[in-house]
Amino acid sequence: MGQTYALLLHGGAGVLADRSYDPERTHMRTLAETGKAMLARGDSALDVVTEIVRQLEDSGLYVAGKGASPNQAGRYELDAAIMDGPSQKAGAVAALTGFLSPIKAARCVMEETPHVMLAGRGAERFAGMHELDRVISVNDYYTPAAAPDSRAIATGTVGCVALDMSGRLAAATSTGGTLNKLEGRIGDSPIIGAGCWSDGHVAVSCTGQGEFFMRQGTAKDVSARMKYAGESLEEAARHAIGDVGALGGEGGLIAVDAQGNLAQPFNSPGMKRAAVHADGTITVDVN
Ligand code: ASP
Repeated sequence: MGQTYALLLHGGAGVLADRSYDPERTHMRTLAETGKAMLARGDSALDVVTEIVRQLEDSGLYVAGKGASPNQAGRYELDAAIMDGPSQKAGAVAALTGFLSPIKAARCVMEETPHVMLAGRGAERFAGMHELDRVISVNDYYTPAAAPDSRAIATGTVGCVALDMSGRLAAATSTGGTLNKLEGRIGDSPIIGAGCWSDGHVAVSCTGQGEFFMRQGTAKDVSARMKYAGESLEEAARHAIGDVGALGGEGGLIAVDAQGNLAQPFNSPGMKRAAVHADGTITVDVN
């Protein structure tokens, strides 16, 4: 038993200068406290990231789950992925419509199929078969947390990474995708190694302009930098976001390593996030 636990969660890259994020701050602090209590009583990192992301999806405060925005065809297509560090098992759903919790669907793909990702109609049918909760009325359920702005690819996503007391790592990412996206567009969030990654030494969840994170393989890049280049978590995370920036992309990531170190670099105007540090303190930041 490591006896150390740590957690980071995010509510997406990008904050507007002229808006208060007090509701998000309060909510993220509550969730950090929930995650801390779960980890302190010995829950697995996998269960903790699933539950925290489910609650982030449920809140309607972020561009994921209830807070997702419709695509250009007016449909709500959601993406999510989850990865278990010790086994490197992973599950993902892409362009999923009609279900409350994409992250629960992703976990179900991981646990109930030999596959890693299901998309579109197949994902929908699979979630239905496993009796996951459906959105009853699309028009009444979704409360888009953000309006499309003038930027080419506007963003919003949620995620969580955790180290549990048995030394296990896990990562989860869920999103409504970029605002104003084309029908069928899939971002980095459900792509294992791009927007989500966990192995024996690091867990990573990304947020930002997904196309750039896909082109850099950002989440796995953090792990590779630590493994092959001997970089610290902090260096690896910072350099990985630097590479996203070098392509012209904006965003950030949260990461935790097997020692409980945390990294939360971003090159976007802010990133909503909360941390449970290895010494038990909780911090919440948006800038
Ligand atoms: N990365 C997400 C995507 O491209 C969006 C975000 O993080 O805000 O779908």
